[in-house]
Amino acid sequence: MSESAQTPMKGAVRDAMGEQIKHELYSAYLYLSMAGSFEVANLTGFAHWMRRQSREELEHAIKFFDFLLDRGEHAELQAIEAPPYAFRSPLDTFEQALEHEKEITGRINSLYELAVREGDLPAQVMLNWFVTEQVEEEKSATEIVDRLRMAGEDSAALLLLDGELGKR
Ligand code: MG
Repeated sequence: MSESAQTPMKGAVRDAMGEQIKHELYSAYLYLSMAGSFEVANLTGFAHWMRRQSREELEHAIKFFDFLLDRGEHAELQAIEAPPYAFRSPLDTFEQALEHEKEITGRINSLYELAVREGDLPAQVMLNWFVTEQVEEEKSATEIVDRLRMAGEDSAALLLLDGELGKR
């Protein structure tokens, strides 16, 4: 290495961030699959919401990828698991989305704790954004789950919510 090389990253933080790219891409994959299932059910508003969510997850993955590059690390991308294909109902779909976001929150929080333990200040600053983002993600998914529960078997209420999410 030349003398001009930047401060190296701790291996543990680098590896955990590389791993997180895969989880964000899996989120994009999962929401795209959910978008498809809404689309074929003619619930175009829910489908629109999920498509948009999927694109946001792709951006999250790229944020990690780019952060590592800025620190002089080229992340080796890992295989992404196949997401579920079929979903029982809109409620079931959004419940799964909420459960998934809770899991992601746990991963982001662990990543933050690791960055603190390793004394990686730039990683902590970068992860602050994700900590806040996860609060938003859980809040919006919870809101939709609650409203789907209220709608129950009432298809007029379901279509009203579908129309509203189409405006996202
Ligand atoms: Mg995400």
